[in-house]
Amino acid sequence: MKLDIIAQRFNMPMEQGVPVSTINGYRVQVINFYVDAFVKVPMMCMMFERTLTKEEIKTIQKAVGMTAMRMESIVLNNNAIIFPFRRGTKPSEKHDEYMRKITDACHTLGLKDLAHCPFCGKEETDSTRIIKDVIVPVHDACAKELYQQITAHVEELEKSHKGMGKSIFFAIAGALVGAIPTLISIIFFQYMLAILYALIPLASFYGYKYGGAPKKSYIPVVISVISLGIVIGMMVWLYGSIAAAEGFTFSEAMGVQEFSSSFYSDLFTSILFLGVGILISWRQMYKQTTAAIKKNYQGLK
Ligand SMILES: [Zn+2]
Repeated sequence: MKLDIIAQRFNMPMEQGVPVSTINGYRVQVINFYVDAFVKVPMMCMMFERTLTKEEIKTIQKAVGMTAMRMESIVLNNNAIIFPFRRGTKPSEKHDEYMRKITDACHTLGLKDLAHCPFCGKEETDSTRIIKDVIVPVHDACAKELYQQITAHVEELEKSHKGMGKSIFFAIAGALVGAIPTLISIIFFQYMLAILYALIPLASFYGYKYGGAPKKSYIPVVISVISLGIVIGMMVWLYGSIAAAEGFTFSEAMGVQEFSSSFYSDLFTSILFLGVGILISWRQMYKQTTAAIKKNYQGLK
């Protein structure tokens, strides 16, 4: 849903393309939150002057009796909460009550809106920047300086190949480990589950991370290719074992039409499910790459 439609419905003024309103003394901004690679939903965001503890988040969640609230770091660590609209994005008494409960809980915790420059900590800001879709008060000079630092850091990471070999090795090992639940479900339950296939790219990505190489913008693609290789290898290995049990080699068995058509059909399903798995895990991978850092902080310029 377009943010300007929400702004109209809730009678929220738009500031720099972001619907903003003050509710019970707090600034509430509406952003588009990406749930995965493609699906975005409008969510509300409140940004505070300091880091929230897990207990504080729980207290706010309890006030409205739901758990779909997320912590977010907007320049400062875990200083913001993101939460969905309730009962559709339409104004209602329920919505007002929901917002009152959340903001009351924030008052009880003594939370205050972020009103100082998060980079230098000083008040009386002279500018704003949009970071992660949220308007943040800043000093123009602080934002510019940080932008240069981040750009230099990202460029350095993009150029560096340090630890690449080790990371790729662990990415392959990770994909193998991630394929185990899928293998078990196929061998013991004759079942293929798309959700289990998502563990292959995820485990591969965490393997890559463990290797310590920079998480460049194209790494999710590399992880997808590794996962595809592992899935194809897994199916060949599975069917190879079936053939071997009957005393044939894989290529001999592929000469039998029943065997080869069943192999191709399972391979096709596996690749399809891996595709779904990659879609599910894409966001998780992407948000840790240099591309995501660049995107998050491009508004600092
Ligand atoms: Zn500053």
